[in-house]
Amino acid sequence: PGSGDNGPAPGDEIEALAKRHLLQPWESLEHLGQSARTVLDRAENIYLYDSEGNKLIDAPAGMWCVQVGYGCREIAEAMANQAMQLAYNSPWYTTSGPAAELAARIADKTPGDLNHIFFTTGGSTAVDSALRFVQFYNNYLGRPEKKLILSRQSAYHGSTYLSASCSGKERDKVFLDFAGNLVHHLSSPLVYRRPDGMTEAQFCDFLIAEMESTILEKGADKIAAFIAEPILASGGVVVPPEGYHKRTLELCRKHEILYIADEVVTAFGRLGHWFASEEVFGITPDIITFAKGITSGYVPLGGMAVSQKVMAEVSGSDAKGAVYSNGYTYSGHPVSCAAAMANMDVIEKEGILEHVRDITPYFQDKLAELDALALVGDVRGAGLVGCVDCVADRKAKNPLKLDSEVGGRIDAHCQEKGLIVRPVYNMCVMSPPLVIRERQIDTMVGILRAGIEDTMVDLEREGLWHAPRD
Ligand code: PLP
Repeated sequence: PGSGDNGPAPGDEIEALAKRHLLQPWESLEHLGQSARTVLDRAENIYLYDSEGNKLIDAPAGMWCVQVGYGCREIAEAMANQAMQLAYNSPWYTTSGPAAELAARIADKTPGDLNHIFFTTGGSTAVDSALRFVQFYNNYLGRPEKKLILSRQSAYHGSTYLSASCSGKERDKVFLDFAGNLVHHLSSPLVYRRPDGMTEAQFCDFLIAEMESTILEKGADKIAAFIAEPILASGGVVVPPEGYHKRTLELCRKHEILYIADEVVTAFGRLGHWFASEEVFGITPDIITFAKGITSGYVPLGGMAVSQKVMAEVSGSDAKGAVYSNGYTYSGHPVSCAAAMANMDVIEKEGILEHVRDITPYFQDKLAELDALALVGDVRGAGLVGCVDCVADRKAKNPLKLDSEVGGRIDAHCQEKGLIVRPVYNMCVMSPPLVIRERQIDTMVGILRAGIEDTMVDLEREGLWHAPRD
């Protein structure tokens, strides 16, 4: 059924089943069973094809993960071969070639001495594992009261109880419970919405002073870790002010607070390097979490890298009976690890890191041209990730009252023209597959421009917004 001349199109049938049975992430329950998401059928390079055969540029690369693009035969074959050779092994009492080899390859790419790799099932479990490792570390060292985690407003760290507790996106917190006693949120380092009258440098001083006074107020002996995305991704592509990363790390070192860099988005090429912490921001954290781009999204995998120095403090002859009792049935899954290695091979063979570094100025300049549109307040980004922040009033910098609707409207117009945008309320995020070429960037940004222009016309017509008269 569904493929005959008179029956429903296959996409309609999928949509009907999804409406009836699928509970999707971040589902708006008011509309449960009424609205379905775009049904995708297949994909190639940077393009998605929906169930009606429409070709769409995938601006968010899935969820910032499809680094090498879709249809990569090397990754698919590596997965199939591994599935036939050894589809699964229990990480509790065995190990596999792919897990061990991948750990060695990642350790080779991480900064400093972050040489111990723990595999998880994705980004949330990577963050959760890092946080639980920090708890283990302080319990082991005999300071169980050193438990507070410093995070930031606008951060996103995942969807397990503990990683979600570290996230700072207020609207995600309305209907769920969080471990509020374990986490303290510092200000978001968003330069665009810094307090009035401050220069970028003064804003950086302000953020550092806030962090230091928080440490002194709460007590360094109570604070276990600082967790930070190098660029706050789904919080709106927040690139902190110059010097922020080094200075936050210095504070952590001074007060014996572990620094966890959440590189779930920034690692594996998004900023033109395997990891961004050292090569882009000049810091060597104690722990780095990663996921997404490690397999280009072909199959789930995540993990963390822990420094030799930190591991040495809790292992070896002194570690009497200490067990890090955390892990997953699928930790180091051989098929996922084989996919990750094939993905790394492709990134190396095709010079994708170099390509990202080369094409970044073109991508960022093109996106910056959208700043001229009256609805756009700020365009920001780094590497192959950027964000167009729409505001009602460019002086007040306030998002439109109907902010989520504005992102949705832009997305709808863009989809009609052949582009999937990932609207985050009033913000359009662009983080395309890393293999994107200049003319594809032209098309992508051109469609986004047209989508924003159409939205401005709609909003004016409906009396929801007026273009400034200056
Ligand atoms: N950390 C960051 C920085 C992320 O952006 C995400 C997901 O977007 C996560 C963690 C959670 O990863 P996952 O959705 O794979 O669990």
